[in-house]
Amino acid sequence: MKLHTKLFIALVLGAALGAALHSRADVAWIAAVNVNLLRPIGQLFLRSIFMIVVPMVFSALVVGVYELGKGHELAGVAGRTLLFTVVMSALSVLIGIALVNTIRPGDRLGLSLQSSGTGAAAVQTLAANAAAAKPIGDAIVEIVPRNPLDSAVRALDGEMLPLMVFAVVFGIAVSATSKSAGGRNVLMRLLEQIFDACMRIVHVVMQFSPVAVFAIIFNTAFTLGTGVFASLFLYVLTVIVGLLLQQFGVYSALLRIAARRSPIEFFRNCREVYLYAFSTASSNATLPLALEVADTKLRLPPDIARFVLTVGSTANQNGTALFEGITVLFLAQVYGLDLGAGQQLRVMLMSILAGVGTAGVPGGSLPMVLIVAQSVGVPAEGMGLILGVDRLLDMCRTTVNVSGDLVIAALVSGPPKP
Ligand code: ASP
Repeated sequence: MKLHTKLFIALVLGAALGAALHSRADVAWIAAVNVNLLRPIGQLFLRSIFMIVVPMVFSALVVGVYELGKGHELAGVAGRTLLFTVVMSALSVLIGIALVNTIRPGDRLGLSLQSSGTGAAAVQTLAANAAAAKPIGDAIVEIVPRNPLDSAVRALDGEMLPLMVFAVVFGIAVSATSKSAGGRNVLMRLLEQIFDACMRIVHVVMQFSPVAVFAIIFNTAFTLGTGVFASLFLYVLTVIVGLLLQQFGVYSALLRIAARRSPIEFFRNCREVYLYAFSTASSNATLPLALEVADTKLRLPPDIARFVLTVGSTANQNGTALFEGITVLFLAQVYGLDLGAGQQLRVMLMSILAGVGTAGVPGGSLPMVLIVAQSVGVPAEGMGLILGVDRLLDMCRTTVNVSGDLVIAALVSGPPKP
């Protein structure tokens, strides 16, 4: 049985059983199984992902930026790629944040949380944390770390953004000094291996995800009741509408205006790539096909396409950035946290950077969502709500991720030769 089928079954079972037993929460043995067995299983799963987050983010970002910055004849291409990556990710997250603030898919869930006893206490703590958040001026200054090691130690307590900034600066510096390393770039090989090892761990941990999803969803449904799951429909819809706006609004406009190409023809030429990305939910697995289509159907210059698509399969993930922004603000709504402009800006910046640091594999963005959520005081347990529907959203956002890489390759290549 495929993993996504198992996850879906785990979600349905966990939700049904948890909701059915919600009314019997006062039965001692049922509560004990929940607290002593199911909750620890869910926590163990989440902690196993947290465990690799710091080394993974650092190695992925340094290697990603190094790839963007190295090679003198590629400096112009790298610069434009970086520019389009930032602009397109920013537009994508903006669409997501605007939608989630308009549709507010988490509000109904928030009400049921506040009306349950434990939820009300949790909401109070969270609201106190949110109130203690720094003013925006301080938040901007503190994006640059005084001591990156200190940021790494406290990364899971909201200090990830300064660590990311250090990794970006460090990656640029390594590419600028790579000549003096005489082509034997030991540091990059080391970081690549660290990254690969982290991904292996994620892969192994994901094998346990059906059990973890069951445990987490059971726990949530048992605590909150059924209202939780009815509203997930609105959350899924918010993400999908955002992705469609990015694909057919932003990409179409950029292709038409900046690359002087017909968007309809471009999308039609890319159909195979979209289908493959949708079914594999992995940008990396789609890369060979994207390279082929860029060459044979879109007729982009091979050197530019190779550079942009290879780097983009890890470093440019617009769909993921949009998903992360929506998810974190959705979870904040669920927990009744009223995030102000400063904290929403923080979510936006972190989602853009997280899009660069996310691995192009199924579920690659989940650790990032945890980090962004925690940085604004949203509890990690909230992830339990979305894991069950994540595979569907992963397929959709990966398609937009890969599509964005092809759009950037066309933009950097310039208008087609007659
Ligand atoms: N699966 C996505 C990709 O490969 C990454 C993610 O958002 O989890 O592009």
